[in-house]
Amino acid sequence: MSEHKPETQLIEAGRRREWTHLENGGGIVNPPVWRASTILFDSVADMHAAEPPRMGTLQYGRSGTPTSWALREALTGLEPGAAATHLYPSGSGAVAAALLAVLEAGDELLMVDSTYGPTRALCNTLLKRFGVTTRYYDPLIGADIAGLIGERTKAIFLESPGSLTFEVQDVPAICAVAKERGLVTLIDNTWATPLFFPAIAAGVDLSILACTKYVGGHADVMLGSVTCTEPVAARLQQVSKVLGQTASPDDAWLALRGLRTLDVRLRRHEENGLKVARWLKDQPQVAQVLHPALPDCPGHEHWARDFKGATGLFAFVLDGGDEAAAARLIDSLALFGIGYSWGGFESLVCPTAPTRTVSSSDWAGPIVRLHIGLEHPDDLIADLASGLARFG
Ligand SMILES: *Cc1c(COP(=O)(O)O)cnc(C)c1O
Repeated sequence: MSEHKPETQLIEAGRRREWTHLENGGGIVNPPVWRASTILFDSVADMHAAEPPRMGTLQYGRSGTPTSWALREALTGLEPGAAATHLYPSGSGAVAAALLAVLEAGDELLMVDSTYGPTRALCNTLLKRFGVTTRYYDPLIGADIAGLIGERTKAIFLESPGSLTFEVQDVPAICAVAKERGLVTLIDNTWATPLFFPAIAAGVDLSILACTKYVGGHADVMLGSVTCTEPVAARLQQVSKVLGQTASPDDAWLALRGLRTLDVRLRRHEENGLKVARWLKDQPQVAQVLHPALPDCPGHEHWARDFKGATGLFAFVLDGGDEAAAARLIDSLALFGIGYSWGGFESLVCPTAPTRTVSSSDWAGPIVRLHIGLEHPDDLIADLASGLARFG
């Protein structure tokens, strides 16, 4: 593990000499895109020596090239206490691989009720079909999760803050209970990234990122990663291999490029996001702002205790009105693109309809999710002001 601070690691990571330099001299700054399926060996002995597949030894395209190794090494370094990282063709692919690595038929999974929609769908379809049952729990349950643990419970999945409604979980308390009871913990850490929440250090076993979002950072790559501790590393490696999961070297390269500026981008997303969120809080048409760094957000005290920053994604609840009125407000915005995903340099808006099965869900009116990009926040506020005036 590097002794350098995260900002320095982002610059240095993955730039091993053997991945950037020619043998007879001269080097480039970034590991280039190594595209490969077949790897050529000088002899049968060399071919055997490349088994089993491992980072740093070319074996077959599916087990990676210096481009993906560099990204894996960089992501592992950002999570103090982590042993390894594997890449997947999307964040959803990463969630699926992580869950398949730790669960088997007959197990029960405790899943946070505020989770990302496709993660819920995976639990309710494929995992169910393979004999894994899912029990949803209130995102704010904290140490009381102990009361939900039964004989078949194998793992606890967290996402903090939650997709769409941003409840911040008491991750250390839940992990402490899990450790005591011998359960595996997984977190979807896409919102904070390891820069703002080093999840493995907080006690989590597998930390999942949709690199599609902030790591890529430019709305032009689909990629996922799972970073894990030593005890689960062999299982994750095996499952990733048999599932045939591999990331394109072009996408790994784009993500590595994104990583270099992740810290400065996140800090600007934070600053702009907070400025817009604080302004929204004072608007008569807004009932509540669901931003982890503001006291109105459920679980804000956990954010204040555990996180090093806030990113640019949050939501606000309209004071009354229906979905059609919210859609008119959204349609009227000029600087906010209407679309899924987030984490790019640009601002986005999207109506949200949270699914909850066990926790309370009494919001005053429709919920609008914003991703605040790197534009000047005053321009974004002016855009929102005219939209809200029309709504009001
Ligand atoms: C987008 C997202 C994912 C899935 O990532 P994809 O790359 O779009 O598959 C997973 N979790 C969260 C919280 C996300 O926002």
